[in-house]
Amino acid sequence: MPVSTIDQKASSVDPYRRLSASQVIAYRSCPRYWYYGWERRLKTPLPPQIIRGNAAEACICRVMRDSPSLHLAEDEDAMSTPLNEDGAPEWDDPSNWPGPRIEPVEKALRPSDMDSLRIWAHARARVHFQRCWDEACDDWAANPNRKGTVEDADPDQCLSMVLRGIDLHLQEVEECLNSEEADVDAWRSGKSRPAWPAPDGFPRDWSSPSHAAYDVGSHMHVVEAWEIARPWFVDPDAASFTQTSTHPDGWFQGEYDLVYRWDGTTRIIDIKASVGRGDRSHGYLDQLRMYGWLWWATHERKETATGLAIWYLGAGDPKDVVMPAVEEMESMDRDLFELYSKIRGNNPSIEECPAEPAPLRRFKDGGVPDGKPVESDSRARCNRCDYAGFCEGSSQEPNLIHMETIQRFGHTWDITPLQAIRTRFSAIGDVSRLTGPDLNEDETVDVRFTMVDGWDRATVRPHRMGGPKSVTRSIKEGSRVRVDNAMPSLWKGQLNLDLDSLSSISPAEEGDEAPIVDIETRVSVVGRVWSIDAYPDGDSVSRWAITLVDASGSASAVAFKQFIPTAAASISRGDVIGVLNGEVGEWAGRPQIKMGPGTRVVVIENEA
Ligand code: SF4
Repeated sequence: MPVSTIDQKASSVDPYRRLSASQVIAYRSCPRYWYYGWERRLKTPLPPQIIRGNAAEACICRVMRDSPSLHLAEDEDAMSTPLNEDGAPEWDDPSNWPGPRIEPVEKALRPSDMDSLRIWAHARARVHFQRCWDEACDDWAANPNRKGTVEDADPDQCLSMVLRGIDLHLQEVEECLNSEEADVDAWRSGKSRPAWPAPDGFPRDWSSPSHAAYDVGSHMHVVEAWEIARPWFVDPDAASFTQTSTHPDGWFQGEYDLVYRWDGTTRIIDIKASVGRGDRSHGYLDQLRMYGWLWWATHERKETATGLAIWYLGAGDPKDVVMPAVEEMESMDRDLFELYSKIRGNNPSIEECPAEPAPLRRFKDGGVPDGKPVESDSRARCNRCDYAGFCEGSSQEPNLIHMETIQRFGHTWDITPLQAIRTRFSAIGDVSRLTGPDLNEDETVDVRFTMVDGWDRATVRPHRMGGPKSVTRSIKEGSRVRVDNAMPSLWKGQLNLDLDSLSSISPAEEGDEAPIVDIETRVSVVGRVWSIDAYPDGDSVSRWAITLVDASGSASAVAFKQFIPTAAASISRGDVIGVLNGEVGEWAGRPQIKMGPGTRVVVIENEA
């Protein structure tokens, strides 16, 4: 099965913290690089070249989904896959699929040989290309983290890559046509449709003879070969991450591009809209080997893929990758799980992710190893690393912000280093107006009360993403308790203490001190804008979110709706800004400054 899911409710693995091939490759290239990218979540800029890859893959898949016995070369796109509420193909509902409603093309008008099939397929690519290009441009332009201009992406180059991909697919079609491996009569009867069909406009349960079928007993026709050879691929209409394969234990996830299986074997292909030159080609070999391992792991460790290959659309022939042997996959099982446990099952510290880059590998076009395998400078990787401006492993002069105070609005603001932002506090007080504690199904405890400490008050409550698990059984009205690791927030002058799984409530000991009044909810920071993570689009996004870095570390800052500062429109990557009198918070384990009433945002240095 090219798609495999698990019962998430039965899994203890957080689906957002699974290991992926790209993380493994990043960690092996340099543990510190992984740390900045995934643990600190310092997103690297999105270059316009991303448009080329997305448009090329979408266009190739749309052509593969078409059929020469359903579409004339110049027909408009008539395929639209019905999707369920998660955005995945609605395989099991036979209504709304376009294929059964399309009148087949007269046999005399269908391609009759490989040359005319190639002309048809290239024409279909031209029909689909503009839409795929425009959608990829729009997606990129909507990403606030983009860098460069759309003019830096070349549609002609992309179209020639699409045609190259189609020609590589046609090689498979021709092999299928000339092969004895495919059981064409079984296919003609409609009885050999797999459980995970290739996207072709028809529902999963479709056993009628194909629209492309010729007479039983006759030699395979070229349009039949197109249908039979069609690989599984990610449906171009499906939402992101709905077509992935997840390890049975839930800790690894990947998504194949193409899976050919017409000859009874399984060959996994990854499409790259590049020439395959340079260090990335080394990581791609690892990626394909991991996909081979994932196929084996998701098929009860009984079925192995028979081939792995990379299609570099800017170069020549497919680059074959050696499939790992079973013993190698058994050790990959152990090594990858160990890595998962270290970097995703836990939160490693910066010291556990050393600034030790692997040598930069050299590959020629097409992913061909260079005669000189690695750069002689052992730290060559740092020279073009996005984090070189502040990473201790780089020889670059650090360009980091360190301010203790700032003068603005006739006032001196004390500046807190980002890494010193305190997001969690302890407090001691008497319990009043207690509700609960009640144990929830997920083993968190629903408990709410007002904590009273002299004249000071705080509302203690479960965090909206999940409450505490450690709550003393002796809590009752009037008892004196200690709350640890609580996240404070202010709402209409009222202090709230939110409790999550890292928080606890225990009986206060004699002499314990943690006054409510010492909890500091406001903070002022100065940092360089590392990335713009969200920008309001008047539709689904109503927040402005950025990541800041300073000499001490990083933090995110966020503003919703009316609190989005007017300066937001003019702030871009690289600017140095101050967020004054923000509210301390925490989001997904990292410090977050929330902009609310009374927060001021000032631009200190404009990158442009
Ligand atoms: S600058 Fe060098 S050591 Fe630092 S993260 Fe980048 S590659 Fe790794």
